[in-house]
Amino acid sequence: MRAMVYRGPYRVRVEKKDLPKIEHPNDAIIRVTRAAICGSDLHLYHGLMPDTRVGMTFGHEFTGVVEEIGSSVQNLEQGDRVLVPFNIACGSCFFCVRELYSNCHNTNANASAVGGIYGYSHTAGGYDGAQGEYVRVPFADVGPSKIPEWMDEEDAVLLTDACPTGYFAAELGDIKEGDVVVVFGAGPVGLFAARSSWLMGAGRVIVIDHLDYRLEFAEEFAQAETINFTEHDDRVMHLKKVTDFLGADVCIDAVGCEADGSFFQTLTTTKLKLQGGSPVALNWAIDSVRKAGNVSAIGGYGPLFSAVKFGDAMNKGLTIRTNQCSVKRHWPRLFEHVRNGILKPSAIVTHRFPLEEIAEGYHIFSSKLDHCIKPLVLPQAA
Ligand SMILES: [Zn+2]
Ligand SMILES: [Zn+2]
Repeated sequence: MRAMVYRGPYRVRVEKKDLPKIEHPNDAIIRVTRAAICGSDLHLYHGLMPDTRVGMTFGHEFTGVVEEIGSSVQNLEQGDRVLVPFNIACGSCFFCVRELYSNCHNTNANASAVGGIYGYSHTAGGYDGAQGEYVRVPFADVGPSKIPEWMDEEDAVLLTDACPTGYFAAELGDIKEGDVVVVFGAGPVGLFAARSSWLMGAGRVIVIDHLDYRLEFAEEFAQAETINFTEHDDRVMHLKKVTDFLGADVCIDAVGCEADGSFFQTLTTTKLKLQGGSPVALNWAIDSVRKAGNVSAIGGYGPLFSAVKFGDAMNKGLTIRTNQCSVKRHWPRLFEHVRNGILKPSAIVTHRFPLEEIAEGYHIFSSKLDHCIKPLVLPQAA
């Protein structure tokens, strides 16, 4: 088969690879029909995730058709059209039975923090991802769901990570009616976090980013107020000013480890690799939320330490909530929101690349060219 292959930082290409095989009775082989490139794939692409091995195929957001099933698979049949959560989860461990699929205890032998994730380095289990023609899906009775007849496949692929992760980010903020919510980052997850904040009762939603095209998108898509932080030397003071000098009730970090905005943080993270992520957005969130407010941290950070302003968080009495999204837990409600037209996840898709042009897709997305918000990859396109 043809698949995207990692060759080193900033170098991906499409190569011939062996077809994935059933390795366990509960595996399925999926013929991928849509995959997405995620903002978090860029951390891999930039060489920032430990143990990202040459030859790995990325891709944890995908839909496809069941090609083959193992002997114990009960819930799927050959030919089913499915969406697959980015979490690989066993369905039966302490965490899975509590619907904490992202923390599954059995799918990632390499870490006790996060469970398995498709195509996300050996730090997340060493599974090959779906930016190729076929992918092996372990625990096929746990993760995948059939795509409902009424659902657009592009909506479905956005429901495998970006949309539920943004929704979960808003949920972690524990938003009360009328709350002022500030979302750091106007990428796909930030956009869905902002949009979802209204569903949870926010009174004001403010999105912060450094790129005007993404902020304009946030105004349209999420009906948010926007701030371009490059226009304000003291970002925290500006945020205080627009929130009655108390600060926001809820701040959401939807940026993660490659935040711009601080030379020191960027240097110690991306250049010197002394930190597991540059927590610029997280620190702004801690500084600009009101005392006793909530901080939701959904942006990705690596396993190393990060210079987070914990003393300020403690003295302000903040509640900080985090996790990787357990995608499947959110599907029943999100499916209803999509069906009723409350959410249109595919509205953020700006680019569609045939698999053979995936290197161009990574370059455009990484360099924020051509007003790219969310790129899809079409493995079956000729
Ligand atoms: Zn993703
Ligand atoms: Zn589990």
